[in-house]
Amino acid sequence: MTAKIIDGKAFAANIRGQVATHVARLKADHGITPGLAVVLVGEDPASEVYVRSKGKQTAEAGMNSYEHKLDANTSEADLLTLIAKLNADPAVHGILVQLPLPGHLNSDLVINAIDPAKDVDGFHISNVGLLGTGQKSMVPCTPLGCLMMLRDHHGKLSGLNAVVVGRSNIVGKPMAQLLLGDSCTVTIAHSRTKDLPEVCRRADILVAAVGRPEMITGEYVRPGATVIDVGINRIERDGKTKLVGDAHFESCAAVAGAITPVPGGVGPMTIACLLANTLTACCRANGLPEPDGLTA
Ligand code: NDP
Repeated sequence: MTAKIIDGKAFAANIRGQVATHVARLKADHGITPGLAVVLVGEDPASEVYVRSKGKQTAEAGMNSYEHKLDANTSEADLLTLIAKLNADPAVHGILVQLPLPGHLNSDLVINAIDPAKDVDGFHISNVGLLGTGQKSMVPCTPLGCLMMLRDHHGKLSGLNAVVVGRSNIVGKPMAQLLLGDSCTVTIAHSRTKDLPEVCRRADILVAAVGRPEMITGEYVRPGATVIDVGINRIERDGKTKLVGDAHFESCAAVAGAITPVPGGVGPMTIACLLANTLTACCRANGLPEPDGLTA
């Protein structure tokens, strides 16, 4: 069997297009421009690349982008003062603090200082609780992107067996909650799971979010299953740096019914969903209807 490739790049472009259309309508009909503030502390090169890309795509969608670059030695008090200012600013509908933060800053404290209604990363404890209890929340971008692609591919997810490998707060757990919300039968696997390949082979939907390059091989995949590869790993191969997922693409694609590639699968969906979340936050803040198909 040769799997269908789920084209996350094209899907993300479509989402960004939908966001841009809604933004143009918000401006024309209500004189409102959604605004996203991104806060970067320190000079982590990978974070700088992400922040630049977020700023560029925010502007391309017609939204206002506010970048706040702070020195690596910024105190917690100064960072919290900036967040309070952004919380109070009506032009800012979404706030994202780029993680990881330098070691002297308490990430939980900082994230929980963001107004939950502006928490477009969906990491605030209130949003985690709302998602866990099936209430309207801001949903973490990467799992939201995975859910959108799964809904598009399968139509309804109800009754399907889903196995999520990874139980992190930013990917594994919210992914599992979203799949449960769509009435999948969900298993969360992790480093202590016994006989992982056998557990994974029960899945109609297999989500790989382990942070280990190409760990999930075809042996883990039930014939015809959908494999969503969240992993982003840079490896050296044949003297070159290569981007690979947490799934071994060739062996999984030989067994799966559908698979997301790396690059060009889940990755591009993350920023697209950040834009979608910012638009959603803006609509909610202004008491306007939320755009269809861009939230969980
Ligand atoms: P974490 O390191 O926080 O979590 C990894 C999870 O995988 C843990 O729950 C861990 O289990 C589990 N795990 C590790 N080794 C094994 C193993 N041998 N068998 C079974 N489970 C294992 O990673 P994240 O959730 O932050 O990220 C996961 C992947 O997704 C990474 O590759 C990351 O780069 C990528 N990512 C991609 C994004 C995107 O935009 N596409 C965004 C965010 C992440 P335990 O809890 O027991 O230790």
